[in-house]
Amino acid sequence: MGRNYANTRSNKNKGNKHTTAFEGTVRITKALNKHGQLNLKKKNKQERRELIANCMHHVQKKNGDVKMRLIENNDETYTCRLCGARIPFNGATKKELKEMCNAVTTELNFAQFIMQSGGIGDQKTASFFAKVKYELAQTPKIVTRVQKTYKKKTDTKKSKKNRGYDSKYGSKYGQWSEN
Ligand SMILES: [Zn+2]
Repeated sequence: MGRNYANTRSNKNKGNKHTTAFEGTVRITKALNKHGQLNLKKKNKQERRELIANCMHHVQKKNGDVKMRLIENNDETYTCRLCGARIPFNGATKKELKEMCNAVTTELNFAQFIMQSGGIGDQKTASFFAKVKYELAQTPKIVTRVQKTYKKKTDTKKSKKNRGYDSKYGSKYGQWSEN
């Protein structure tokens, strides 16, 4: 496990006092039943999709702090109790992210081509493909930026705490992309 995992786990029960809840966290917290489970029965399809897409994998506690809602799997991944997402905790490199996004973009290019060539589909679908391509082109850069900021923040916290390098978690440093 990466060192970020250790940091997150330390926040598991006490919540994170230094984090402001994002919109998605506030919204998903409002949709929980009294047992703390996500109640989607009364939501329509679009509301459900929006809640899941906005899930930050945390809930907001009554005092405003946030608390993670992940359970550990036996293959070094985590599953969100709210949205069901399976999340590896090593963070893809910018190069890997580009490859993943390019793979989807390639298929979108083909779909756009056959739409126009065959005179099929509608403008809504064409615009959807364009939007996803546009967002995917920026995704590696933005994800990498978030990873870097997180690493910087947890490094600072760690050095304040331990006043030095922690060899236990240090071995996974390389997994965070610097390019
Ligand atoms: Zn989630």
